[in-house]
Amino acid sequence: MLEQGDKFGEWFDKVLKEAEIYDYGRYPVKGVGIWMPYGFSIRKNTLEIVRNELDSTGHEEVLFPMLIPEDLLVKEEEHIKGFRDEVYWVTHGGLEELDVKLALRPTSETSISYMESLWLNSYKQLPKKYYQIVSIFRYETKSTRPLLRLREVTTFKEAHTAHDSFEDADRQVLEAVNIYSKIFDHLGIPYLISKRPDFDKFAGALYTIAFDTIFPDGRVLQIGTVHHLGQSFSKPIDVKVMLKDESIDYVWQTSYGISDRLIASIIAVHGDERGAILPFKIAPIQVVIVPIYFNEEEKEKILSYVKSVKEQLEACGFRVKIDDREEMTPGKKFYDWEMKGVPVRAELGKRELEGNTVLLARRDLKKKTVVKFSDICTEINELGEDIDRNLKDKAWQKMNVRIRKNLKLEESAEYEKRGGVVEIPWCGRDECALKAQEKAGLKALGSPLEPPAWIKGSSCPICGRPAVTSLRLAKTY
Ligand SMILES: [Zn+2]
Repeated sequence: MLEQGDKFGEWFDKVLKEAEIYDYGRYPVKGVGIWMPYGFSIRKNTLEIVRNELDSTGHEEVLFPMLIPEDLLVKEEEHIKGFRDEVYWVTHGGLEELDVKLALRPTSETSISYMESLWLNSYKQLPKKYYQIVSIFRYETKSTRPLLRLREVTTFKEAHTAHDSFEDADRQVLEAVNIYSKIFDHLGIPYLISKRPDFDKFAGALYTIAFDTIFPDGRVLQIGTVHHLGQSFSKPIDVKVMLKDESIDYVWQTSYGISDRLIASIIAVHGDERGAILPFKIAPIQVVIVPIYFNEEEKEKILSYVKSVKEQLEACGFRVKIDDREEMTPGKKFYDWEMKGVPVRAELGKRELEGNTVLLARRDLKKKTVVKFSDICTEINELGEDIDRNLKDKAWQKMNVRIRKNLKLEESAEYEKRGGVVEIPWCGRDECALKAQEKAGLKALGSPLEPPAWIKGSSCPICGRPAVTSLRLAKTY
């Protein structure tokens, strides 16, 4: 058994491997991994939630080429400065050197804008909201980590929107923040929403709003970002429309993304010393049935009871599996399914058969209850909802105790030992954020969207000016 806290890295790698979620570090290319069938199902169910939230808010799914010609990628100056060191280039087709190098997309602002310059011509088409879920490539030079820092990010959900005014793009940013909040809420992942300092915004954006969560080791992981792009891309790529007053203007754009880190967070924030604990909503197997028998005569009757329980549950729409592996003891099976994070285990033996009952063990609280066979669907339904609620509440509690507000900067070094987020009063100026980072040895995450009430009357610890908001600092991934 591995503790999560201090040895989190080890715990995380072990769970990904033993639960057969993601095979990492064995394929002969650095920084890439393989979604195994069980992991792929978790990913698929998670993406269904993502797609539902986007589709129901007017986003349209598209699929753009993975290759971006160099002359298009370099059109926005800040953008290419931000990504230059990370781009993979295709330079040859067969033996021939290409006239124009092709980038493996690090993100798609330029390619989507290019096609928008052909597709959009009137304000009547706006707002336009596209998204795609694709692989992106970044040549990470920092040490790579499974699902957390990859060279091929396989689950990059990027949305790109176009608007007829600055204000409408501003409104879209808030809509995106709202959509992401809902997605994280569905999955029980706690988050902090911060407006990133100017020096840490997305390359080419006017401003960036980011979602962060705190991992069990106390370090902060960025799990989503939303950018107001202004006209930074539409001007050089010439995305123009006719406005209502018949004048012609460049569109205003936003983009927002989440990645494999979404799934990494599900594993990390809910897991325990026995392995993963999956929310009921996305678990590939919601109920695993383990038959328990001691002789051949029992076996036959119990297996037929097991079958009828499975059929009943499937008829109610649950994802169910019978673990009838002959060579394995029930104890070993329990260990296996606990590692995989299956939310509910049903144990069916002689007692259950005779009483027409089912013994249910929930993964999150390790509690057992006996229910009547006739009530099984209602019981599982309620149990599933309760598990998801409990996972979410616990995860938020664990995160909240790790956020310390109104701390003196001198105390932050002490706090760093416990990890989490330090929040200090701030004058709002970049230079003070940079100095605070240096002084505390932490990274500035930015400030909350609304200035918190507790800063009233306090001053910036760096320059002494009155605080207008707070600054969050943390050790990050
Ligand atoms: Zn200051």
